[in-house]
Parts: sequence; C-alpha cells; structure tokens
Amino acid sequence: MDFVPDPRLGAFRVEVRQFLDGLSAELRGRPRATRSAPAEVRRWQRVLHARGWGAPYWATEHGGTGWSVPQILVFDEECAAAGTPTVDGFLHKLVGPVLNRFATPAQQAEHLAPALRGERLWCQGFSEPGSGSDLASLRTAAQRDGDHYVVNGQKIWTSYAHESDWIFLLVRTDASVKKQAGLSFLLVDMKTPGITVRPIRSIDDFHHLNETFFDHVRVPAMQRIGDEGQGWEITKFLLNNEHASTAELPALKRYRRCIDELADTQPVGRQRLRDRPEFALRLARLDAELQAIEMLVQRVAALEADHHPDALWLGSMLKVRGTELQQRLTEFHVEALGDYGAVAYPHPELDSAVALPGQDAARGLANDMFFRRASSIYGGTNEVQRGIVAKLLLQL
Ligand SMILES: Cc1cc2nc3c(=O)[nH]c(=O)nc-3n(C[C@H](O)[C@H](O)[C@H](O)COP(=O)(O)OP(=O)(O)OC[C@H]3O[C@@H](n4cnc5c(N)ncnc54)[C@H](O)[C@@H]3O)c2cc1C
Repeated sequence: MDFVPDPRLGAFRVEVRQFLDGLSAELRGRPRATRSAPAEVRRWQRVLHARGWGAPYWATEHGGTGWSVPQILVFDEECAAAGTPTVDGFLHKLVGPVLNRFATPAQQAEHLAPALRGERLWCQGFSEPGSGSDLASLRTAAQRDGDHYVVNGQKIWTSYAHESDWIFLLVRTDASVKKQAGLSFLLVDMKTPGITVRPIRSIDDFHHLNETFFDHVRVPAMQRIGDEGQGWEITKFLLNNEHASTAELPALKRYRRCIDELADTQPVGRQRLRDRPEFALRLARLDAELQAIEMLVQRVAALEADHHPDALWLGSMLKVRGTELQQRLTEFHVEALGDYGAVAYPHPELDSAVALPGQDAARGLANDMFFRRASSIYGGTNEVQRGIVAKLLLQL
C-alpha cells in the first residue's frame, strides 16, 4: 500500500468540488442525519446518476465509476463537507455488490437500473430476536410452494424498513441440515401482502428502527439470489463489505470539523475553548487517531481489492477503532457545548419546525452522540470483531 499522495487526486478533488458547487441550494449545506429523508436520498441519487456518478463505489464493468479507493475517499469527504444528502448505503455498499457478484443478468437488470435511478430504496432483513451475533441460528422460514417461497417469521432492528421499497432477506429454506447450509438470500418487495412494519423509537429520539413481521408472504422463487443454501456464503461476502464501511470516515471528519467550529465559538470564561491547554491536548490525541483510521481505511480497501486474507481481521479492527472514535468525538461535542450540552436539542434535519435562536451549534449534537452508542453494536458488535482479530491474527 502506497501512502504517497497521488498528484492526480488534486485534479479529481477540483472536479468533484466544481460539481458540488453547481448544485442547487437545497442539495447543499444540509445538516446530516445518519440517513437523509427518503425523498432527498432519491433526489440525490437521480442527480448523481445524471452526472454519470450513480454508482460511485463500483467497478466500471458493473456500471460504476471505477474510481480508485483514494478517489472514493475524496468523493465521500467532499460530499460530507458540502452537506449533500446521503446515499442509500444498503444499495451501494451491501445489496448492490451482492447483485453484481451473485445475481443473474436478468436479476441485475430488474433491480440495479431502477435503484441507480433513485426509484428503489433498500433495507436489510437479517437480525431476529435471539439471532444477531449468532446470525446463522435465524428462524424466519421460506417454504417452497411451486414457483414461490412462503415466508413466515420476524426480523428486528430493520433500519428504514418503513421507508424502503425492497428488503434483502436471509431466510431458512432447509431446517434439516447444518444451520449455515440451510440459509438462502431473497429479495422481497415491501408492498407484498403479509408484511407488517412496527416502529422502534431509539434513544436519539428518532424513528429509524423497526420490527418487520412476515405472515405467509409469497415471494417469487426467481427473487432468490444464488442457489438455495448459498445464503451464508453471500452473507459473509456482504458482511465483509459492511465492516470496512462502518468506520464512516467522512462522518468522523465532519465531527472533527464541528469540534473546530465549537473551539472557536464557545467561550470558557474570557478564553475561547481552543485556547485551553487541556482541550488542545485532547484534540491532538483525537487527531492522531483520526489519521490512523484514515490510513487503515485505505489499507483495508486496498487489501479487499486484492482479495487479500488480511482484509478480514483488519476490517474488524477498523470497525472497532472507527466506531469507538465516532463515540468519543460525539461525546467531545457535547462536552464542548458546556451548559448547552446538558439539553438534547432537536436535530434540525429531523425537526425543522423547532427554532432555537442562538443555539444552532447545539442542535442535533446530542442526538448524534446518543445514536453513536449503537455504532459498536450494528454491523457486527465490537466484541465479536475483537474475537475475529483474536482468532485470525493472534490465533487464539
Ligand atoms: C442502530 C442499529 C441498526 C441496526 N440495523 C439493522 C438492520 O438494518 N438490519 C439488520 O438485520 N440488523 C440491524 N441491526 C442489528 C444488529 O446487527 C444486531 O444488533 C447485532 O448483530 C447484535 O445482535 P443482537 O442485538 O442480537 O445482540 P447479541 O448477539 O445477543 O449480543 C448481546 C451481547 O453479547 C455479546 N456477544 C455475542 N456473541 C459474542 C461472542 N461470540 N463473543 C463475545 N461477545 C459476544 C455482544 O457483543 C453483545 O454485547 C441494527 C442494530 C442497531 C443497534
């Protein structure tokens, strides 16, 4: 892995900035929630697609931009800095790569084109009550009935199920074999009769999570990706992509910029926050960690591109370090707010009706801090990631 900056990246950054500068005001300068509202995600996807950047993370043979890892990092960073809406991560980082690798040409044509035009948002139906870390123990059953499967069971923690068009679902098609061998991967239209979505409100006072129930839901067998029983292999491929992206480097950088703003604007007695030595010391430590994560992101992505086995444990290490830093930076925000940090002001993206004159810096920061408690749980808990590092790297 070569960490020497590529001079051509500068020209690419200028190209991205010019594109972002030309966007309409509604698509820029937005306070970023974890995922923007569905209408904005769709709209942003349409704009990117029209620019030829509809699949910024995929290879050209899959209709992507074919950008290198450093280019992708520049693109993400500039979008976060410009405050564009978010993309549908489930499409771009999870189900899209699965379809590119495992789906038939007919399935790819059916699902990828509309998604890249912003017409189809996705959610992930893996976890169940009692089956999270031990995912292979899941019980939602899909029984073959002619050219359909009949799905019965329950998923939980289904992020954005209430505003998604399709779900990718891991189901049990054979209960008589070893648990991993009995799983299959289905795509299901969320409008199919028999699906019920119930909200779970989380500690950040936002509705992104749901319980999703399947009651005799008929799914065409042609919506199965790969062979029957191949679900675990597909899931392992998908989850490895998930580990590397859960560090969320652009979000980390955005949090860091926010601390800079607070450092210059928050008074502490007669000083600015930035002038306090203990503040400066903590900030320097966080900066060192941020730089280490940035290098680790590049290293993991380069190893993944080479299909190198070290990508697996390094991806797990990145997940642990990246999510811990998300938590520390957002906690630091709230501390830096001083007295304002004691109040969880509404997130501007989520509740624009509430006006809090003079306290703009405080809005949404506590929500982010609370939400980030979950970063070390979703995408595979950090304890499980540590287990992977112990096994693969330390051979424990
Ligand atoms: C905000 C949020 C969004 C999510 N979004 C989705 C989604 O969209 N789709 C979806 O399918 N799921 C989603 N999840 C679910 C997530 O994947 C699971 O919560 C996660 O895999 C953990 O499973 P669990 O909650 O059942 O906990 P458990 O697996 O029951 O774990 C409980 C505790 O035991 C520990 N533990 C378990 N096994 C081990 C082990 N082998 N070694 C050491 N410690 C262990 C865990 O680390 C944890 O501390 C989301 C979760 C959250 C919090």
